[in-house]
Amino acid sequence: MSRSILPCSCGYLFEESGPIFRDGDDDEYDGPLFNCPEKGLANHITYPPFRRLSDEYQPSGLYYRGWDSGILQPAIHWCFVGEIIADVLPPVMSSVTTLRTRFGEEMIVAWYTDNGVLPANMKKGNTLCILYAERKQFLDGRNGIRQESIGHAYVFPCTYEQLRAETHHLWRNAHEKAKHCFQCNKATGSRCGKCKLAYYCSTECQSAAWGLHKKLCGDEAKILGLALMPEMPFGDQLSWVTLVTEAKEFAKTLAESSDVSAN
Ligand SMILES: [Zn+2]
Ligand SMILES: [Zn+2]
Ligand SMILES: [Zn+2]
Repeated sequence: MSRSILPCSCGYLFEESGPIFRDGDDDEYDGPLFNCPEKGLANHITYPPFRRLSDEYQPSGLYYRGWDSGILQPAIHWCFVGEIIADVLPPVMSSVTTLRTRFGEEMIVAWYTDNGVLPANMKKGNTLCILYAERKQFLDGRNGIRQESIGHAYVFPCTYEQLRAETHHLWRNAHEKAKHCFQCNKATGSRCGKCKLAYYCSTECQSAAWGLHKKLCGDEAKILGLALMPEMPFGDQLSWVTLVTEAKEFAKTLAESSDVSAN
C-alpha cells in the first residue's frame, strides 16, 4: 500500500483516503469526487480504487445516503475490481487473495465464506470483481477486504486488460444501433451463436478471438453487467445473478431508445 496511486483515465488523481460525506441536492455534486465521465470499467466511481472504497467504520458518501436521518442506505452500484497477482494457497478456511487494481494498488481479500467455499477460477492472472466491497482494517494493521458473501464475488478467467477490452466492445454495441466486430471493429450483424452478445464480422475474426472468447462466452452477460453498471438505475443492491437480469433489461431500453433516435 506504500506505492503511489495512478490516476483514473479521466485524469482524476485520488487524494488520501478518508470519509466522503454527501447530503442534500444531487446537482451540487458535479466534481470528480462524485462523478467520472469514463464508460464501463474505466469509471472511477462505480469501479473505485481500494482507497476510495467505503470503510466499515467510515461509510462513504459516494455510495450511501441518509446522513441526516442517521440511517444509511446504499444509493448507487459499485464494484471492486482487481487482478489476482498470487495464487491462493490451501487450506481454505481463511484464505487470502492478493490483488492489484488498475490504479496500481496492491491489497488483500480475506475470505470468510461459509464452509470456506471460494469463487471458481481463483488464480493468478484472473480478475476478481466484488460487488459492494468494503474496506476493513485487519487485526495485524493491514487494510483489505474481508469477504463473507460469495454471491457478491466473481472471478473472470482473464486479465484486467482483457476484461476492460471486452466491456468496451459490449458498451459500444449496447449504445450504438450499428454493431461492431469485437476483433476488428468493422460494422457487422454476425454474432456468437452461443452468448449472442459478442459480434464477429467473419470466421477469421471469430477464430482469432476464440482463444479468449471461449473462456468468456459463458460470462458475457455478466460482463455486459459490468459495462452498463455505471449507468444502470439503482433500485437495490444486486447479486451477480440479478445483475445479469437487470443489465439485459437495461440494454433493451438502450436499444429501444437508439431505434427511436435513428428514425
Ligand atoms: Zn475517472
Ligand atoms: Zn472483424
Ligand atoms: Zn459467445
